[in-house]
Amino acid sequence: MIKKYNLYDNEWLAGLYDNKERWVPCFLKTTFWTGMSTTQRSESINAFFDGYVHSKTTLKQFVEQYERALRNKVEKEFQADFKSYSQMVPCAMHYEMEKQYQTVYTISKFREVQEEFVGKVYCDLICASEGFLGMTYEVHEDVVYEERSTKKTFFVSFQRDKCEFTCSCHFFEFRGIICRHAIAVLIRNNVKKVPDRYILKRWRRDVSRAHTRVAVNYAGLVSTPGQLMYDKMCQRFTTLANMTADDSLRASAILDWIDMQCEQTMASKSSHGSNVIPLHSTQISSRADATQGTGSGSVRDPECAKRKGRPRTLRKKCPLESSSKNVPYVLGKQLTLELNSCVICLFGSW
Ligand SMILES: [Zn+2]
Repeated sequence: MIKKYNLYDNEWLAGLYDNKERWVPCFLKTTFWTGMSTTQRSESINAFFDGYVHSKTTLKQFVEQYERALRNKVEKEFQADFKSYSQMVPCAMHYEMEKQYQTVYTISKFREVQEEFVGKVYCDLICASEGFLGMTYEVHEDVVYEERSTKKTFFVSFQRDKCEFTCSCHFFEFRGIICRHAIAVLIRNNVKKVPDRYILKRWRRDVSRAHTRVAVNYAGLVSTPGQLMYDKMCQRFTTLANMTADDSLRASAILDWIDMQCEQTMASKSSHGSNVIPLHSTQISSRADATQGTGSGSVRDPECAKRKGRPRTLRKKCPLESSSKNVPYVLGKQLTLELNSCVICLFGSW
């Protein structure tokens, strides 16, 4: 709005813009962002690239380093998966619901859920009123803010017949973790097990993560048969979707057929007990050695690159950067950020 209506001189809007971290989250809290907020927009992705990419990284080096970073991430995930299967964090409370999460979630996600179960002791159910959408409970929570204890009020609406709740903190909608206020209400209503919609598939320990099948290495590609078949199927599905997207009858018939195939495959997998963690996480590791490949598809530096920003000599250097030699071209910081956001988008789609 400021840009569109040329309101750069408006003090009130400038003040609002300066304090955006304080009010923008209110508009985002009902949307699922896995807990990521605007104020920490690049922290997580910077951590992903820590030690791999810096402002002097060339485009060619970026592609190679991206693959290394991804491989490292997959390896860490594989180790975490193994840990999730071989170890179990004990329950802190004796509620069935906590046990339900303990058996299906990965260790790190279960710890987050457990924190809410433990945090329930700070919550007090004050009163309840019956409304159009079931009961609404007023919950007071003792919170500590800047070393001072204070009470915060939350409202949880609960529909008993559907076992569905909404809390005014919107913790579940934003982070996908059931909040302590809702837990207090569920326990008050003698709910033993939460419905499946409150157990997100993405954090289950037995989930099959699709991104481990993504081909990231196109130099001297060494793919497994499963990887090749996955790519082949994706290409065919895309072609079919392009051909039939405008024909609603044919498209819905194809979607029905795909749904049927999914159901049959799931049924056959569960009957054979093969719904386990994907060991193909190692596929990327096995291809990693080919990163430096010199085949026809190898990554080359661009012919020229233009620098941006202040002179190189005046910039503060990070330890990795100062140790770097042989840097023919400079990848501007802006470009690094744009590539970072591409990667964020990529992760978002996973
Ligand atoms: Zn809540």
